[in-house]
Order: sequence, then C-alpha cells, then structure tokens
Amino acid sequence: MMGHLHGVTMLSQVVELIEAKRRFAITSHIRPDGDSLGSSLGLYWLLRALDKDVEVIMRDPVPHAYQQLPGANAVRVMPAVDPSYHAVFVIECSDVTRPGLVDLEKQFVVNIDHHSTTALFGAINWIDSTASAVGEMIYNLCKATGVRVTKEIAECVYTALITDTGSFHYSNTTERTFKVASELVRTGVKPAKTAEAVFASYPWSRIQLMGAVLSTARRDESGHVACMRQTLDMQRQAHASDEDADGFVNYPLTVGEVEAVAMLKESEPGVYRTSLRSKGDVNVAKVAEKFGGGGHRNAAGCTLKGDWEETENEIVRLLQEAVKHANGLKDITEDALKDSEPESRPAPVV
Ligand code: 5GP
Ligand code: MN
Repeated sequence: MMGHLHGVTMLSQVVELIEAKRRFAITSHIRPDGDSLGSSLGLYWLLRALDKDVEVIMRDPVPHAYQQLPGANAVRVMPAVDPSYHAVFVIECSDVTRPGLVDLEKQFVVNIDHHSTTALFGAINWIDSTASAVGEMIYNLCKATGVRVTKEIAECVYTALITDTGSFHYSNTTERTFKVASELVRTGVKPAKTAEAVFASYPWSRIQLMGAVLSTARRDESGHVACMRQTLDMQRQAHASDEDADGFVNYPLTVGEVEAVAMLKESEPGVYRTSLRSKGDVNVAKVAEKFGGGGHRNAAGCTLKGDWEETENEIVRLLQEAVKHANGLKDITEDALKDSEPESRPAPVV
C-alpha cells in the first residue's frame, strides 16, 4: 500500500513538471523493445497533445517489428541528448547508463519505470511496480493530465501491453491490464492487426536462425533447467539481424517441466548477451543482478563473458539454485497449510 501511495505522489510530480515546462526529450534503453518504444511514443503523443516541444531520442534504431507504431519514423537515433531540453524522460531503465547516451546524468532526468529494482537516478522518479508495462503508466498519465487517449496513443500503449505481458500470458497481467486494453480497443486498436505487425512480420532469416539455435537446446538432469546458445557463425550463416532472435528463449519454457531457461547469444567472441526466463516463483532477476543485469522475476537479462562451456555451466548452476529456492518456498507454504489442517495431515513416512 505504501508503494502505491508513493507512486501516486510521484505521478503528481510528473504532472506538475509537464505543466510547468515546455521542451522535453524522451529516451529509453539500448536495443529498444515493445514496451520501451510503445511507452516512449505514447508519451510523445501525450506531450504533443499538450502542445509541448518533444523529441524521442534513442541510441539504437527502431526494430522492424515496431516500425508501424505511430511516430516510429520520428525517433531520432543519436549518441547523446542535446542539453537544451528542460527535462529528459527516461523510460523503462534500471539506471542512467541503460539508454547508452553520453552525459545523460548531467540532465534533468525523469525516471519512469515499472521495475521494482530500478535505481532512483532521476530528479523525479515515478516507479509503479504494479503496472504490467510502462505503457499502462502512460495510460494513467493521460488520465492524470486530462489528455484524451487518441488512436495514436492507444496503438502505442497496446503494443507495450502485449509485448511486456507476453500477450497477456505472464504473471504481471492483472485485471487493470485488461481494463486498459479494453479501453484501447474501444478507442480503435485492432488486436489482430497489431499482433500480426509485432509477432507475425518476421523475415525468413529468423526461421533459419531458429533452427540452428533450437538444435543447441539441452536440459539438466532434473529437466527443470534448460539452456541454448547462438553463435556469431549461426547468425552469419542465416544472414540474420540481432533482432531476429527475439523470443527464442521462450521456446524451452513451453515444455511442462522446464522452469528456467538461459539463452546465451554471442555478441562478440567470448561475450554473451544472456536472456533468462522462468515460470512461477523462480526468480531470474536475482540471477541477472549477480552479473550487473536486471529485469523482472520471470524475464531478465545480463551480459556474460568467458569460455562458452564454463559460462553456460555457471548460469545453469545458478538457475538450478533459483529453482531449488522457489521449490523451498513452495514447501514452506504447503507445510503451513498442513499445520492449519491437523486432521488432514498425512501419517509420517518412516
Ligand atoms: P531480454 O532477455 O528480452 O533482453 O530482456 C528481458 C528483460 O530483462 C527486459 O525487459 C529488461 O527488463 C531486462 N534486461 C535485459 N537485459 C538487461 C540488462 O543488461 N540490464 C538490466 N538492468 N536489465 C536487463
Ligand atoms: Mn517493461
């Protein structure tokens, strides 16, 4: 409850700032995804509706899947943000270096995020870890500023919602997510059309790369932890771009007993961009944090370095521990339940 009140206070600070100032920049993390772009562009349209000067600035270009977003062609790819803005909104970033923009920490930064682990690096920090996506927060900001949710805003926010909730599959999906989604659809979003643009518009190179990557999938003895790798060679042979591998990490998790997955993607020899995914209480954000990364309980990432085998073995070992820890939590809850129902307690096994 405290967290919620805290969040509301910060929202009012954001509203006051928007009312008081005129020139804004918006940025988000490197290799932007559906929530970072959907939220950034949603905020862009919101500020434009209020007649503000606003620009979206990213270090990396907009991936193919999000080029249909309203305003995507206005995103400027630059290494730094000009110091002339009154404030820079930093969307969905765990720290001020995540956007990869030079000297960003010297600006008046507004940190907007839904990760509970985010650093409070802004002059204003609006963090709402109950929001399924930052997109949901942008929707709330529309309500707080009295800006009508236009077709443009709706498209952007809806894309943020479906990407960050895994099409409403993940545990961050709440009643509120559906309420927001419902209003967005009423505003004119076509769910099938948006889903096709985001999830069914890949190039053939993705299928070829997927074949190579999935053929490396292996699991530990328990069957609960899986890992896969993508080498630079695989990417070269498939003529695949970086974004072609998005989402591969989720496939091993579609197997019943698999509870945690790591996918190591070689970005240069000996350096691996690592995606972690899990089910239920298995916390992979904790594992990613050990290596300077971060994320959510069930989806996190980090960068690893070293020998392939050793690195893979180490991450598998940590995932096994995370699974064990989560199962320990389950046992505790089950024990507590048993204690409250003494009659139904089974006879001790000797
Ligand atoms: P992905 O595996 O799709 O690259 O990342 C999954 C999630 O983990 C992202 O939504 C983001 O929240 C988080 N994440 C991925 N890589 C990093 C990283 O290097 N640092 C931090 N702090 N978070 C990351
Ligand atoms: Mn997000």
